[in-house]
Amino acid sequence: MKKVKRLIKGTIHNFYIWFKLLFSQPISYTDSKIDELNIKITNYKLKKEEMDLSKGDYNTIVVHHTGSIPRLTIDKLYNIHVIKRKFAAIGYHFVINENGEIFYTRPLRFKGAHAVPNSGKIGIAFASNLNWEKPTKKAFESYIKLVKVLRRRFNIPKENIIGHIQQQIRNLNYNLNKYNVPLKLTEERMLKINGLNELKAIKKYEYKRLKKLKVSKNLLPLVRCLKACPGLRFYKYL
Ligand SMILES: [Zn+2]
Repeated sequence: MKKVKRLIKGTIHNFYIWFKLLFSQPISYTDSKIDELNIKITNYKLKKEEMDLSKGDYNTIVVHHTGSIPRLTIDKLYNIHVIKRKFAAIGYHFVINENGEIFYTRPLRFKGAHAVPNSGKIGIAFASNLNWEKPTKKAFESYIKLVKVLRRRFNIPKENIIGHIQQQIRNLNYNLNKYNVPLKLTEERMLKINGLNELKAIKKYEYKRLKKLKVSKNLLPLVRCLKACPGLRFYKYL
């Protein structure tokens, strides 16, 4: 009986999502500031303006991937972030697809929703899974161009181009310290590991170590989320 109820609930929910998709009318927007970037950027639809305004004090660029197999289209990403997760726009400011197209998915006048704490952080995502594949040449070229322009515009130092994973390491260490857990995850440690091994190592060592230390349950999800976005490999390109 429970199963039937869940099935009916799920079907109604899916119907609701499709209904919303059919009848919602996202507006497209332009941002004069971004025009000055002088690179080809496609403005992307923004459903409603409920986002926190940014002070424009961007000092960090956080690199993500959508982590999806097969590759996500921007529309699908929009459905996940906006329709399902109820974000006001796609969480990243820019998304680059495999053809090297740059989508401006969240105006920089709004704070991103991609790496907590989001203040001062520009979010760029590759619409692919970089654990399994490298970015395409075109995607990577666009990424380099975009980063160069953003760095110049906001005066962002090289060392502040980080992967989501590094942001999470910082966050994790902050929390470990806060909860007096005698463990510190270093970037050097992470740098020794790459690609799939990175995920395996995190799962195998960090997660188990924390479990052994009987760390508060609040911290375990933090360790799990370390696998979200690879990023360390981007260091060497910039
Ligand atoms: Zn990420």
